[in-house]
Amino acid sequence: MRTGQSHLFIPGPTNIPEAVRQAMNVPMQDMRAPDFGELTLDLFIGLKRVLRTEKGQAMIFPGSGTGAWEAAITNTLNPGDKVLMSRYGQFSTLWVEMAKRLGLDVEVIDVAWGAGVPVKEISRRLGRDTNDEIKAVFVTHNETATGVTSNIKAVRNALDENFHDALLFVDGVSSIGSLEFRMDEWEVDLIVAGSQKGLMLPAGFGVLGVSEKALEASKTSTMRRAFFEFTDMMNMNADGYFPYTPPTQLLHGLKKSLERIEEEGLDQVVARHFRLAEGVRRGIAAWDMNLVAEHHTLYSDTVSAVRVPANVDARDVIRIAYEDFNTSFGSGLGPLGGKVFRIGHIGDLNEAMCLTALSVAEIVLNRAGAQIQFGSGVAAAQTWFSTETRSRPRVKLAAE
Ligand SMILES: *Cc1c(COP(=O)(O)O)cnc(C)c1O
Repeated sequence: MRTGQSHLFIPGPTNIPEAVRQAMNVPMQDMRAPDFGELTLDLFIGLKRVLRTEKGQAMIFPGSGTGAWEAAITNTLNPGDKVLMSRYGQFSTLWVEMAKRLGLDVEVIDVAWGAGVPVKEISRRLGRDTNDEIKAVFVTHNETATGVTSNIKAVRNALDENFHDALLFVDGVSSIGSLEFRMDEWEVDLIVAGSQKGLMLPAGFGVLGVSEKALEASKTSTMRRAFFEFTDMMNMNADGYFPYTPPTQLLHGLKKSLERIEEEGLDQVVARHFRLAEGVRRGIAAWDMNLVAEHHTLYSDTVSAVRVPANVDARDVIRIAYEDFNTSFGSGLGPLGGKVFRIGHIGDLNEAMCLTALSVAEIVLNRAGAQIQFGSGVAAAQTWFSTETRSRPRVKLAAE
């Protein structure tokens, strides 16, 4: 018997605001009704604001982030095209696997899990590619497995400095709606997001932002695609309809979550994610534990991947938290299994929730064999939150 609330500190699916849950509790409606567009057309406008694009096209494909990856690839590239990808965590690894399965000629740059996108190496390879064989560069904006955020603008600059025309693909599944992202300014050609992370919804659809250049490429792309055909989607979307049955309840939820992001302000949403993440990080530092992210410039404001001491199995941490404290932390993925647990701080979250995460983590880490002074991480976060609040300007802590 579990009493009280369960606590979800995984980097997706994320907590759904009560108002969003209620907005989804509507009777089923006719997806061909003449007024259906009144619901959907505004959603595309709202999504474009979140992606910070005016020139690009926003699309919603039933499925998940992974489906939107596939849509992005199959609509814009050709079989056997050479693409440049880098691997630095589980999600960038999966994207490489997909590109290979779909028949692309993938040139992979492997870097340490904990590092970010290897901009210099990308630049070097683009510079060498004098025949423009590389058709696309793929970047995972926020590597959810390692808690590393990469610099997309720097990759854009690498393309520009080499006068290279490749398309820029970005996986923004765990960054869109939470971290700074500027599609037009950074000239991103395909940006992929999902419903269940920063957009604070159940899983069920993937979002795509498609640049004019990517749309142009889609006109001559010869990869096989059926369900994910851009043309079918855009033709129907023009009046607010879909080529097949859309997840209507989720669209009602999206309307509400976009309203909430708008009301808080996208800049404030980004600032809040930093504020909360920094509190969590200070807590982890007070335990004398390290993040997987190698450098502070790479720290993700949506997820922290924490290395546990050698005598601790991170799987125990996650299991005890779940069984005894109704609390879910993220697991270490791939080679990080057992060595890492992740604290998701993405979406609908506040200071008190982060303090709960740290407080529960302190108990379970101790039970799993770590030696942590109770309250040490919580106190460090409290100190940070006591000055870094919504209502007060940034104040330097005495300790800084
Ligand atoms: C969650 C996630 C995915 C996978 O998205 P699904 O919606 O589960 O298909 C891909 N990339 C990143 C960075 C993610 O965090």
